[in-house]
Amino acid sequence: MAILNSINQMLNEMTKWRKDLHKNPEIGLKEKETSQYIQTKLKTWQIEYKSGYANTGLVAWIKGNKGNSKKSIGLRADMDALPMPEHNNFEHKSSNEGMMHACGHDGHTTMLLGAAKYLKENPNFDGTVFFIFQPGEEGWGGGKMMMDDGLFKDFEIDEVYALHNWPELPLGEFGVTDGPMMAAVDEFDIIVEGKGGHAALPNLAVDPIVIASQIVLSMQTIVSRFIDPVDKALVSITKIHGGTAYNVIDDKVSLNGTVRTFKNETRVDIEKKIKEIASGIALANNAKAHIQYYNKYPPTINHKEKSIFASDVAKDLVGKDKVFTNINPSMGGEDFSYMLNEKPGSYLYIGQKDENHYAGLHTSKYDFNDNLLPIGVNFWVELVNKYFSK
Ligand SMILES: [Zn+2]
Ligand SMILES: [Zn+2]
Repeated sequence: MAILNSINQMLNEMTKWRKDLHKNPEIGLKEKETSQYIQTKLKTWQIEYKSGYANTGLVAWIKGNKGNSKKSIGLRADMDALPMPEHNNFEHKSSNEGMMHACGHDGHTTMLLGAAKYLKENPNFDGTVFFIFQPGEEGWGGGKMMMDDGLFKDFEIDEVYALHNWPELPLGEFGVTDGPMMAAVDEFDIIVEGKGGHAALPNLAVDPIVIASQIVLSMQTIVSRFIDPVDKALVSITKIHGGTAYNVIDDKVSLNGTVRTFKNETRVDIEKKIKEIASGIALANNAKAHIQYYNKYPPTINHKEKSIFASDVAKDLVGKDKVFTNINPSMGGEDFSYMLNEKPGSYLYIGQKDENHYAGLHTSKYDFNDNLLPIGVNFWVELVNKYFSK
């Protein structure tokens, strides 16, 4: 691996930033102190920025000193944590009860800060680099909100790239596709409205628990029986609520779930099928199904040519055998998808697994692998240098 010495030398200070951020996780467009932390660093390094995108998001920029090219590139890091407890015991463990950096966005933010610091000191390129610090990735659509707040109107950004650490890949290996990378995410709520009654007189009631159970089981056939087996899709009921007592038939049961797809037609077909199954089964049982369906993040689809470019940069950095360009797409969702719908670019995984870092994303024992910091920073720096010298 050919990591620049001057980047390796930043490891200690970057590890400190990463641990500072880890210790103070914030969520859902309220990443005030995280945003302040980033701004303080940018000010110290005299890097220009503009805040106020999606509440706590900000955009910094560095113009290279090699000419007057209008060319530009956007590098994006997410900066929010998750609403979950942390079960690690190290010193930098979360000090905010019920919040945790369990997706490594503390590391993503640190890598982007490291790249900004390095490129400010070494602006040997012809063009402008934009550093997009995005809040609220974990279900809040912060990426879209930054765009709604003028991200691509205020700044002329030609292409966009993002990195996500990946615990399934060994440290320093890269994974990318030149097409679908992450799934579209939809959510739905169903309220099955029956008729309450005495548990001893089910014949006089319409039991929503039995009807909801049929709906849950029938939904298992959507992917297995209605979707082309070579396509990829997922339907999960993730919450059920109903009932109050042993001897009472409740009048309502609520079901909530999520749908993941890659193709738009599959997305539309599944929404239709969920509605048909829920209302059809309810109707057959003299009940009603009230269905709300929400289209959330679109699928994250990498642009072919840009993904090849980014993976070539990674290959030069870590070696050909450590860059996998044909990985399986993930059924997880990602709101970088909105940016990729607007601008060409690519989203890449960067492996973080070693003997001390094997916990999965969104688990309470997860921690970002700090040995990844120089690799990520060097990737950003090389991506920028090669992009402008193309
Ligand atoms: Zn996550
Ligand atoms: Zn994440």
